[in-house]
Amino acid sequence: MTIPVPVARGPRRGLPPTHFADLTSDQVKEKVKELGLPAFRADQIARHYYDRFEADPLEMTDLPKDAREKIKDALFPELLSPTRYIEADGGATRKTLWKSPDGTVLESVLMRYPDRATLCISSQAGCAQNCPFCATGQLGIQRQLSAAEIVEQVRVAAADMESGVLPGGPGRLSNVVFMGMGEPLANYKRVLSAIRQITSPSPYGFGISQRNITVSTVGVAPAIRRLADEDLAVTLAISLHCPDDELRNTLVPANNRWPLADVIDAARYYADRTGRRVSIEYALIRDVNDQAWRADMLGSLLHRELRQMVHVNLIPLNPTPGSEWDASPRHRQDEFVKRVRAKGVPCTVRDSRGQDIAAACGQLAAEEK
Ligand code: SAH
Repeated sequence: MTIPVPVARGPRRGLPPTHFADLTSDQVKEKVKELGLPAFRADQIARHYYDRFEADPLEMTDLPKDAREKIKDALFPELLSPTRYIEADGGATRKTLWKSPDGTVLESVLMRYPDRATLCISSQAGCAQNCPFCATGQLGIQRQLSAAEIVEQVRVAAADMESGVLPGGPGRLSNVVFMGMGEPLANYKRVLSAIRQITSPSPYGFGISQRNITVSTVGVAPAIRRLADEDLAVTLAISLHCPDDELRNTLVPANNRWPLADVIDAARYYADRTGRRVSIEYALIRDVNDQAWRADMLGSLLHRELRQMVHVNLIPLNPTPGSEWDASPRHRQDEFVKRVRAKGVPCTVRDSRGQDIAAACGQLAAEEK
């Protein structure tokens, strides 16, 4: 069985028109020149966008008036508008539902902690991976997101943090995780471009530390190797969920295409090339993948193949509507942690925010069309 990995056929097929945040600094400068403006206007626009989180050229008052309109028409097409906010955890967690002019819907979730603020973003509208326990997986794929649509989720959250929308007063967006809708490595070029815009220093990026970016994947082995060669220090998270191929083939159907051995080999390559510990995600599903023997098997496999370069993140399953699966009971979870650690592999349970607003891991499934 082959799992279709969505690849856009034309360069921008079905995607919104080119936006400022799709472009590298050189491309922005070229565009500005095409508009008949002096080159330094490019840096000015970039400072507005990446330093002040301003995306409306009409508000960029240090630009000449006639240039503002021109820039707006050429570089700032309308992309995403927020259609709904849902709060949880006393306002410290906020889910935003976004809509694009073509009717595409997607979600992002901002989570504030005492020491950091993390934004969980979408890389695709829907997802083609079809993992049976994941709400987005049940939607199927609508389309890829453009780099700018990914970057815009970050810009707006950064602006919200700065203006103190969440309780706790003004703060700074410090972390971005590609754990919203979609498989980031199946939208490789645009996700990579977005990562560059998110991490580049001012004025052509938000300057968020590469280490504070996490790319979570079902295990697209060739794309993991490619990412390892990009000279980035982002954190790689692999949705393993199972230490044996037979069950993983059903839990993470991409395993039929890139089996465990291939995924683990790619993870090792990533750790070797980047010096970064790989994070292994494991959603504990009662009586499905939470057996003591599977914990032993997982610990042994990871210790043998990745040594010190791995960390296991257990996620209690967030049951999705209509599914008969449930989270493992607490004692089973504790036993699982203990057994993985006993093999010498660090293992922690992820704090899960936003369960009551369907904003927890795997619950994102925009219904409004
Ligand atoms: N496609 C990427 C990123 C999106 S999901 C990936 O699969 O890694 C982010 C994480 O949430 C993944 O580890 C995913 O397997 C997990 N997840 C999905 N549905 C879940 C659920 N119902 N409960 C707990 N975790 C879930």
